[in-house]
Parts: sequence; structure tokens; C-alpha cells
Amino acid sequence: MHKVTFIPGDGTGPDVAYAMKQCVEATGVRIEWEEVHAGVDVMEEKGTPLPDEVLQSVRRNKVAIKGPITTPVGKGFRSVNVSLRKALELYANLRPAQSIVGVPAPYSNVDLIVVRENTEGLYAGRERRQGDTAVAERVISRHASERIGRVACELAGRRRRHLTIVHKANILPETCGLFRDAVRTVAAGQPELDVEECLVDTMAMRLVSTPEAHDVIVTSNLFGDILSDVAAALVGGLGLAPAGNVGPQAAVFEPVHGSAPKYAGLDKANPTALILSAVLMLQHLGEPDAAHALFEAVRAVIGAGKRVTYDLGGTSGTRDMGDAIAEEVARLIG
Ligand code: NAD
Repeated sequence: MHKVTFIPGDGTGPDVAYAMKQCVEATGVRIEWEEVHAGVDVMEEKGTPLPDEVLQSVRRNKVAIKGPITTPVGKGFRSVNVSLRKALELYANLRPAQSIVGVPAPYSNVDLIVVRENTEGLYAGRERRQGDTAVAERVISRHASERIGRVACELAGRRRRHLTIVHKANILPETCGLFRDAVRTVAAGQPELDVEECLVDTMAMRLVSTPEAHDVIVTSNLFGDILSDVAAALVGGLGLAPAGNVGPQAAVFEPVHGSAPKYAGLDKANPTALILSAVLMLQHLGEPDAAHALFEAVRAVIGAGKRVTYDLGGTSGTRDMGDAIAEEVARLIG
């Protein structure tokens, strides 16, 4: 029995979250869900969009899955998503991009994962203004680079054994040089891997010209943020893009997209990105058969093209698409 913190989120979050939960339950994996609430819907009652009990629950269970959460603007609160990543030191952002037949997308042969360092780089929060000049410090440490390198190498070892280290060390020899060397040192411990390096601008070009040639791409924070969105666009966009955030204390799985408030409660949002995040969660929980069945069910339902949401050219709502995937999981599991 696994214990998982379940955060439905706000906006369209609850719609996609309950659809996802039903699909995971159809796999037969025994999960005790601890449902806790965060986001704009709890702000009034709790005085914060991220009540303490949410963090406590994730720390206790070590695994969480969440729907998207709106960032309240102009109310003095920072993003719940960023706060969770900081508080739990979720240093590895995993962003797979895999083609699914039936999805309107520019490519049909992509199967890669971007492994993004999630705690430092240009997002370390060291920005200041000096008169008419603004400065941001780009922080790269050996410790953070080695640990993201280990995650990427471990993943590459389980996949097609191809690792691309992305940097810009020709222009940023200290920061990118340290990142590249640290990851290279880690990768040297896995001689079975085919390791290459690529400058980030060349990588952007390669992603849109020959995405099928890539397997695991490891890079620093800002580069990873941009490249992973490019990768998502190659396979159909944010409605289908899952993510995992992994750290030493916990792992949190969530869709890449936001709370799409204009569709809140309308049974309209595509649940696929969160269901594919649940595939990552099941892999993390050591349930590869269930993860495989859930992914195959998503592929079957989208491939059939009937019970799918508007963005995939269908007329189904969130609930019906979730039902279709859950039924397919049950059929596959037998
Ligand atoms: P968004 O991703 O919520 O929506 C942008 C557009 O993408 C939507 O209008 C919709 O047309 C489409 N879309 C998004 N998800 C979809 C789905 N599941 N199915 C079909 N179409 C979908 O981006 P936004 O409008 O910039 O952000 C809304 C809120 O979400 C903001 O407050 C933002 O801070 C927050 N946000 C949260 C997360 C997170 O929880 N991890 C991530 C990004 C944004």
C-alpha cells in the first residue's frame, strides 16, 4: 500500500485531478490518498494558498500528485508551485516529451526527456538593480550539478543510454564550464552511456530539426525551462505535458500547464497531462506494470480519437475522457 498526498488544486485543477485519480485507481495499485487543499480556493479560510498541513502531508508521505494552482497576483503571495519546490528542495525537474498517435503535433517520432536543474542558475533569486543597470547572478555549484547529473545518468541507463549535456561554456566558461565538467565526471562512472555535449543554441535547433535523435537532455535551470517547453510543443503542447519534481525528501508530480481558470468547473480541460504525470508517479513508486498500462490506455483513447477533449479535436469533456482512459486501463489490466 502506497500513501500519496493528493492536491486537487484550483481552477480546472479539480476537474483533471479527479479524472486522474480514477484512472490510477483502475490500475489496481493500492494507494491511500491523503487529500489536502492548496490554492486560491483555500486562501480565505486558511489565510494562505499553501497551508502548513499541505507541506506536512507531502513530507510525511514523500510522494504527492497535484493539479495546477493559480498564482494570486498582487496579494503578496508567491506561487504555491515555486514555494513547494523550494520548501521540499525538489531539485530535479523531469519533463518527458513523447509522441502519441492521434495528437495534432509537428512530429510523431519523439521520445525524449529534459532533466532540468531546478534550484539555482539564473533562477537563484539573486537579482538587483543598480541605478539604470540590473544584474542577475547565475549560481552554479558542483554539488547541484553533480546531483542533477546523477539523476540524468540513472535515467539514461534505464532508457536508450544516450545523454546530451547542454551548456554554453564557450561564452560562460565558469558557470557552464563547472556544470558541464561536473555532469561529465558523474557520467564517466557509467561507461555504457553514449555521452555528448551540445551548446544550448545548437540544441534548440536540433530539437526542432531532429528531435528523434535525442534521449536524455540534462541542463541548467533557465536553459531547461525553455528547452522543455520547446519539447512539449513538438508532441502537442502543454495540454499533454507531464512533469515530475524530485528531491531528497519528496517527489511531486504535476502537469506543466496552469489552472486555465476560464475553463474552471466547465468539464472542458484535457486531463492527459496530469494522467501522464501519474504515469511518472507510478514509475517512481516502483509500479512499472501499472505505469505501462496507464500510458497504453492514454495512447489507445487518443489514438481512437473519439472520447477526447476539444483541444484534440473531440467533443468529450474531462470526465468522459477520464472515464474512457480508466475503462481502457481496466481492460488492459484484465
Ligand atoms: P494555463 O496553462 O493555465 O492556460 C493557458 C491556456 O492553455 C488556456 O487558456 C487553455 O486554452 C490552454 N490549456 C491549459 N491547460 C489545458 C488543458 N488541460 N486542456 C486544454 N487546454 C488547456 O496558463 P495561464 O493562463 O498562463 O495560467 C493560469 C494560472 O495557472 C496562473 O495563475 C499561473 O500562475 C498558474 N500556473 C500554475 C502552474 C502549476 O500549477 N504548476 C503552472 C503554470 C501556470
